Amino acid sequence: MPLTIGIHPSVARIVPPERLESELTDAAPEATVRVLDGHGDGRGGRDVTVDPASVGDSIDVVASFGFEEWFLDAGLEWVHVVRAGHDEFPVEALRDRGIALTNSSGIHGAPVGETVLGYMLQFAHGLHRYRDDQLDREWNPRPWGESFTLEGERVCVVGLGTLGRGIARRADAIGMSVTGVRRTPAPVDHVAERYSPENLREAVSDARFVVLAVPLNPATEGLFGAEELAAMREDAYLVNVARGPVADQSAVVDALKSESIAGAALDVTDPEPLPQESPLWGMENVVVTPHASAADEAFPERVADIVGENVRRLESGESLANQVV
Ligand code: NDP
Repeated sequence: MPLTIGIHPSVARIVPPERLESELTDAAPEATVRVLDGHGDGRGGRDVTVDPASVGDSIDVVASFGFEEWFLDAGLEWVHVVRAGHDEFPVEALRDRGIALTNSSGIHGAPVGETVLGYMLQFAHGLHRYRDDQLDREWNPRPWGESFTLEGERVCVVGLGTLGRGIARRADAIGMSVTGVRRTPAPVDHVAERYSPENLREAVSDARFVVLAVPLNPATEGLFGAEELAAMREDAYLVNVARGPVADQSAVVDALKSESIAGAALDVTDPEPLPQESPLWGMENVVVTPHASAADEAFPERVADIVGENVRRLESGESLANQVV
């Protein structure tokens, strides 16, 4: 029997479900693909749910942005997360039921790498401030000495996987000095010096930019707190493209308010969306983006390639690519 893949409507957070359906149909011609009926407010996939009664045991695989409890009891063989991070998925419960979990790691290096380069360029040249001034029709050159070039500045990339390498390659290409933090001692292209997680504070202490690019797990939750922020230079910028809880957000706000760091670019926050009352919204030296650094028009095709490859592997009894459990 060919596999049936159900596309959960929560994928609309990052891609129109019908677009993913079309790409998956091309990438896995041996499978049947359908978009599951959702209900809820459905704003861009947020809070949209699927009635398990409408699914029954009619699907073998679900491709989803978010998790729902019924995934555990619907006779699924495999759940594919259409994002790199799977921190919202109950790994142990899936393992206990023999349901495979795969993620979309490996495809975000270019869009996130370019976006991080963009944040750094904005801060170096004050572009974010000029854009704010433009909306107020103000011609307001920065005082002499505030702008700098990225060339020759140091960036420390915390986490040197797909994201971190995408960032490191681009930072190196523009002439920055690149250091990084990872658990594994092996060298990484474009990274001049590698620090172990135990030496995180030392690693960030001489960097103009610190970029967080690690998965969220018990070891990394709160990894970047008051002491790590205090270890940063006063003219340094924090960039978080990992997950909000990797940084202690109230410590970040305190560091920004006390000017113990120069600014921050936060693509991820805790919680998301960032609440209206957060002081981060009103800070001139902060750039907030709505978990958008990985957005890329080629995304549905790349996710479909991973799923299509895994359909073939599942049918031929091979181990799955990007398998978490
Ligand atoms: P990878 O698994 O490819 O890389 C993770 C890296 O983090 C590895 O280098 C790993 O080290 C390192 N790492 C893990 N734990 C620690 C630690 N305690 N201290 C230092 N380094 C550590 O993941 P990706 O690069 O694909 O993605 C990383 C995370 O970024 C995702 O889990 C997701 O949460 C987030 N993400 C955010 C996106 C966005 O839109 N903002 C888009 C995509 C991902 P080692 O090399 O030694 O194993």
